[in-house]
Amino acid sequence: MKYIIGNWKMNMTAGEIVEFTRGVKKYKIPKNSPVQFGLAVPYVYLLGMAKLQGHVLIGAQNVSEHNNGAFTGEISAEMLADVGLDFCIVGHSERRTLFGETNEMINEKIKKLQEYQVLPLLCIGETEEEFTAGKTKEVLHEQLTKCLANINKEQEIIVAYEPVWAIGTGKTASIEIIKETTAFIKQELQSILGKLGTAVLYGGSVNPQNAPAILHCEGVDGALIGGASLDADKYMQIASTLF
Ligand code: PEP
Repeated sequence: MKYIIGNWKMNMTAGEIVEFTRGVKKYKIPKNSPVQFGLAVPYVYLLGMAKLQGHVLIGAQNVSEHNNGAFTGEISAEMLADVGLDFCIVGHSERRTLFGETNEMINEKIKKLQEYQVLPLLCIGETEEEFTAGKTKEVLHEQLTKCLANINKEQEIIVAYEPVWAIGTGKTASIEIIKETTAFIKQELQSILGKLGTAVLYGGSVNPQNAPAILHCEGVDGALIGGASLDADKYMQIASTLF
């Protein structure tokens, strides 16, 4: 099974979501399809989406590291679970760079999600500067070690390798880099979690043209898709690479 998860970021209106849903329905998904679809949607649409979509995992793009209380503007893990959400993205590079999220904060968020049985989808990745300096593995090791410290190892998590320099830029990591880095992440996960089998996705300018090579790359368990997931045709063309 491979995950095809869209991250709508701060995009879409209710009307555009109706259009998107219509667009998706034009595609026939085979019964034995190996694809697990998912969409990470803005908070205001979560309740409606969680009720609407049966076979699509619906997730949030962020969660508070705090329990319910005096945190104006925040949304708790308990609330996400209460509206029936399946998963929540944590540690997206935009949250790290634009909103100052640290590995320690991300670790707290993962623990809160686990407490309420919402599947965490952890994003990790190096910046262009770190990539050029040959520090990718060092950065990923630190992110994984700190973000996953003392979490419940029995509960499932998903990890997305998203090189920051590939997000929204039209640049994708080469297949060699994706293969090598995914294998490294899986090794690290085995040593941190003491088990195999954690899904590792790739994210960073995935589109219908590059999807076949990326999704069939050894070790890649699916894709986290930003820009292309706003267009039903592109989203479904990426997924249909797998049927
Ligand atoms: C993302 O935001 O997680 C992402 C991968 O974006 P894009 O596909 O637009 O690069």
